[in-house]
Amino acid sequence: MRLTRYFLPVLKETPSEAQIVSHRLMLRAGMIKQASAGIYSWLPLGFKVLRRIEQIVHEEQIRAGHIPMLMPTLQSAELWRESGRYDDYGQEMLRITDRHGRDMLYGPTNEELITDIFRAHVNSYKDLPLTLYHIQWKFRDEVRPRFGVMRGREFLMKDGYNFDLDKEAALHAYNRHLVSYLRSYERMGLQAIPMRADGGPIGGDYTHEFLVLAETGESEVFYDSAITDLKFGDRAVDYDSVSECQAVLEEFTSRYARTDETHDAELFAAQVPEARQKSARGIEVGQIFYFGTKYSDAMGATVVGPDGARVPVHMGSHGIGVSRLLGAIIEASHDERGIIWPEGVTPFHCGIVNLKQGDAAADAACEALYAGLNAKGMEPLYDDRSERAGAKFATMDLIGLPWRITVGPRGLEKGVVELTSRRTGESEEMTPEAATDRLAQIYAAH
Ligand code: ATP
Ligand code: MG
Repeated sequence: MRLTRYFLPVLKETPSEAQIVSHRLMLRAGMIKQASAGIYSWLPLGFKVLRRIEQIVHEEQIRAGHIPMLMPTLQSAELWRESGRYDDYGQEMLRITDRHGRDMLYGPTNEELITDIFRAHVNSYKDLPLTLYHIQWKFRDEVRPRFGVMRGREFLMKDGYNFDLDKEAALHAYNRHLVSYLRSYERMGLQAIPMRADGGPIGGDYTHEFLVLAETGESEVFYDSAITDLKFGDRAVDYDSVSECQAVLEEFTSRYARTDETHDAELFAAQVPEARQKSARGIEVGQIFYFGTKYSDAMGATVVGPDGARVPVHMGSHGIGVSRLLGAIIEASHDERGIIWPEGVTPFHCGIVNLKQGDAAADAACEALYAGLNAKGMEPLYDDRSERAGAKFATMDLIGLPWRITVGPRGLEKGVVELTSRRTGESEEMTPEAATDRLAQIYAAH
């Protein structure tokens, strides 16, 4: 993409309405624009990152054997009356009446709809296990939407639902989700720690929240600092193996890590050596639940079991806050000059800064680089504006592309350009071909 042909409305001033750094940077980098309280338009740069996060979530869910689909945003109140949640859900649910006077709602979550699909089409235990998921917009009429996309009213969520014959099988689905979530967050360059949580309005005995540690997080968390040394890394886990998934769960959840809702000060003191007892703030970027037969009982979702009798299915639901993740990643990865995107989610693979637009040699070298990077499957953002170098650098630093290639007449006389890491600030001179190869190598791992 050439910057002169792109739409990147960066702001010079720091917007006064934004209280936390991720919100400020998303506004300044021209990623989002508020449409109304807690509701945002995703401008091209923000939309690109949103799509990349979504793509990682899809790939990892499909890898785990979960099946993508799409349910609508608007739902009928009927199903929610069946489950009893139409009244229980409270004011966060946006209720709508259509022209025929029918009660509708903008879905805050989808347990009812998916259970209705299940009971209409699945009849036998032989069709289990089954996990369906979608990535769809949700609406929750939060009392105090704030912090930009972190606590929106309209937000994008991945929500998945498992259907299993018994508790044991459903707990394997739970573990599978935990593994796939660990992989997903790490691919986004994030450490998200599974912590024991509270069931909330959705209910449930088994639940973990995934938290990214950040001062601006809304949750208070307590954990054994040894947990921050755990890395999922590049391991190959067989998602069909009960024992392999269980082992990952045990590894990542056996140390003390809880949100304030389930925190037990006595247990914390007894279990964790004092030097490792940490309390901090965290951003919830996902949650997994096993809730047994709660919805299948209420809505009659049964299958014919192995002995011929009908039994209610065991279910769980599993969510990832796709749009909130943009804010969480920026909270975890920025400096005073702007965003620093992890390679896994960056909107463009690198920036090309032409120090002397209009100089024949510099222009030609940039064009060649641009073509070369594209030919290797990368997408550069070429700053081809007739701006001074300082302004171009400031824009690149603000929008946070992890790599920048700087091209100028002086370097070109020696046949070199400069490759700079946004994270470390370190630069290296090399030929344009070498810079292209280096980036291809770096991105091959993402
Ligand atoms: P919270 O406690 O932050 O209100 P929740 O526990 O009610 O969230 P879940 O039902 O677990 O949310 O939804 C799954 C994920 O969706 C959450 O882990 C979070 O990342 C994201 N999410 C929930 N509410 C919002 C919101 N208002 N804006 C953006 N993302 C949200
Ligand atoms: Mg939650």
